[in-house]
Order: sequence, then structure tokens, then C-alpha cells
Amino acid sequence: MPCCFHAERPDTFRDLDPGCQFEVSADRLVEFPNGSGKHWCDFHLPFADSDGTLSTKQAWTVEKADQFLQKIYKYVASASKSDRVVDLTGVVFPASETQPLPLTSDRLFHAVCLYRAVFGGSVNFRHTKFLLNIDFSEATFIQTAYFDDIEAHGLFVARNVEFVSDAYFQRAEFHENALFSRSNFQNAAYFSGAQFSKMANFTRSNFSGSAWFDHARFYGNSGFSGNLLDANNRGLSNVPADQLTEQAQAAAFGHVWFRNAKFYQDIDFSNRSFSGYTDFNSTTYQVAPNFHGSLMNQDTSFLDSKFFDRSGERAARSYRTLKLAMEGHRAWDEAGRFFAYELESRRRVRSMPRIIKLFSVLYELGSNYGLSPGRPIGCLLLFALLFSGVYENSGLPKIVNFDHALAFSIEQYVRPFAVWTSSYKDGDLISSIWKFIASLQSLLGIGLATLFILALRRRFRMG
Ligand SMILES: [Zn+2]
Repeated sequence: MPCCFHAERPDTFRDLDPGCQFEVSADRLVEFPNGSGKHWCDFHLPFADSDGTLSTKQAWTVEKADQFLQKIYKYVASASKSDRVVDLTGVVFPASETQPLPLTSDRLFHAVCLYRAVFGGSVNFRHTKFLLNIDFSEATFIQTAYFDDIEAHGLFVARNVEFVSDAYFQRAEFHENALFSRSNFQNAAYFSGAQFSKMANFTRSNFSGSAWFDHARFYGNSGFSGNLLDANNRGLSNVPADQLTEQAQAAAFGHVWFRNAKFYQDIDFSNRSFSGYTDFNSTTYQVAPNFHGSLMNQDTSFLDSKFFDRSGERAARSYRTLKLAMEGHRAWDEAGRFFAYELESRRRVRSMPRIIKLFSVLYELGSNYGLSPGRPIGCLLLFALLFSGVYENSGLPKIVNFDHALAFSIEQYVRPFAVWTSSYKDGDLISSIWKFIASLQSLLGIGLATLFILALRRRFRMG
């Protein structure tokens, strides 16, 4: 009669047998619950059944727990030595009073399957090198999980994992895909300084406590999309937060820090709920980030962040979403910045008429899309001087020195198009070509003054 544990291994380790992987003699198996006919090895014996009935494992002595761990160490060492997959699927690790030890003495793992494992005590994988794939999907970490400074050279699969306590992945290096989708971080999650060389997938993962991704590097595509979607996959971002279904709220960020993080590829925050302080300060984006359908907290900051993508319609839509979110929070400066990026990106769209592109360029040059009220004033002064230089050598009557030229130049701002009026003094003495040039300056003056007023209004507008 073997141990009754049975679980088809995940795709990463599909070749492994679905039954109990440990050789335990029948007389060492434990029946649980009593009278159920289900017999378990020490490794798979759960803490409790689905009704909450506790097993004997819950009351194991420190010695018994230590014996268990020694057996695990031996099993891991022997599997590693023979290059077999370390199959710890479904193992229920007892709670430990002592400082957590690493599962290997040399902090080196080849392939390891921890699918549906349960860790009753805290776990220490700090500085461990995972040379091949590791999969601990559906695992449960009841106490703190330490994965700081790990190196994962194969796939790192952690789907649907329950982190009941804090999870530490600081400075972790993921050289292959890191898959954390639908995992639940019930407490703080620390990914500060982590490096994701390939895909970082946190789709529909939930962060109830604070989440730290500051100084992280995302070299591949990253997914943090949530599930603010109804049954027909339509966005719910317009639904008030307190009316969202539990399921929609379940993939949320609490307080989150991405400060100084760098995103080198696509980054997807779509349909994600940000329910607390959200810090994107000093972040860098090579590709415009996707926040479509997300619910952003009012306490969201993008201070000193850099966005390099102006590649066309897709980027324009991404910036438009951010602009609308910031406008919703009455954050006009931020909204103005994203509006500028939107226009610049849209200019790259081929089908856009040239004349619109020209005006977009002029708008950028004149006032940086309304973000720089000082720029049109500077341009006004500069053009006044430039035109003065032109008028000085024009041979126009009564302009014999620069002072006269400057006066004539400023006059084109103050009395636009006056050179055409019949009452204009000496009007007859000015040829049409010079009247035309003076009118151009007047037009410039009106345009720049308008840009100045618009920029000023944008800056000081009230919600
Ligand atoms: Zn077993």
C-alpha cells in the first residue's frame, strides 16, 4: 500500500510520475483522517484535512521535524548527485522554530519541482543557484520566504503561489522567464533590485501588503495586468472601487514602489487596480507602458520618470490613457507631459496629414506643447531682434540705424498689420514685399502670444 499522494506534475516536469516519489515502507505510513483509508508518507502528510481536522504533523516535536529535514537533505543531495530532478512535489514541510536552513549545503540546485509544496516554517533559499528549471506553482509559504540574491538560470515558475507572510526576492537574478501569475502576496513582497532578463509575468497576481520593485530591471516583456474585467472581458475601470466584485479587486496593488525601475520592453499594467500609494518616480520606459483600463490611485507619482517611446499610434494611445488618468486626478502638469508625448508619438503615424504634423512641430517648438510658458516669450524677443536686423539693412525709409529698426520691429507686434492701413504714416513709401514681411512678423507675434496665454492657462488652471 503506497502513500496516497497523487498529483500530475506541471508542464515543466511532465515526465515525472504522478504518484508519491518517496520509497516509504507500508508500516511507516500514517492513516489520515482516521478511518478514511488514506495512508500518507511523512513527507506528504498534510497539516489538516479540508474539514480542519489536524493531523499528527501539527504536533511534531523539534526532533521529529529535524529528522524530517535530514531525510529531505539526503534526498536532495542524492537526486542532485545523480542529476535527477529534485522532486519535492507536495511535500509538507513542518514548521520550524530554528533559523531556516537552505535545502542544499552548497546552495546549488539543478532542476527542482516544488509543485504544491507547503512550507510550515520560513524558508531560506538566499544566494541559491538554480541551474535548471524550478517550479513551485500552487505552493504555500506560511512563514517568510527568503529568495534574496538567488540566480535562476532556468525557468522560474511560481504560479498560483500563496505567500502568507513576507516574500523576499531582493537582488534576485532571473535569467529565464519568471512566472508569478495569479500568485497571492498576502504580506510585503520585496523585489528591490531584482533583474528579469526575459519575461516577468505577474499577471493577475495580488499584492495585499506593500510591494517593492524599486531599482528592478525588466529586460524582457513584463506583465502586471490585473482582472478589472467583467464576464465579457470588458474593462471595469469606470466602476467605483467599492462596487467591484471580489474577484476584480483580488488582483490589486496595495502600496507599491517602482522607484528607479527600468523597463526595456513592453510593460503591461492594464486592468490593474492600484489601491494605495503608487511610486513610479525616476522610472525609465523604452516602450510606452500600457495602463489601459487600470484604476490608478490619486496618490500616484511619475516624478522624474523618462519615457523614450514616440513610435506611433500604439504609443500615442498609451500616453493618452496616462494623460486621462492624470486629468482625472487634476494633476495638470503630469497630464500635460503625457499629452506632449501623445502628440509627438502621433506625429510618427504615416497617415497623418503633413499640415497637421507641421502644426504639431510648431506647437512643440513654440511652447513645448504648452508645458513651457517662458518659451513663447523668449521666441517673441528673439524674433524681434532677428527682424530688426533684417529691417536695418532693408533700405526702408526712415530706418537709418538699429534703434529705428527695433522700433519698427516691435511695432509689428503692437499694431499688427497696420502697415496695410491707408492711415499708416509713410505707408506709401514701403513696398508690398516689406509689408508682407512685416505682416509675417505680426502673425508670428499673435501665434506666440496665443501659445503663451494657453501655456499659462494650462499651468494655473483650477480643477
Ligand atoms: Zn508520499
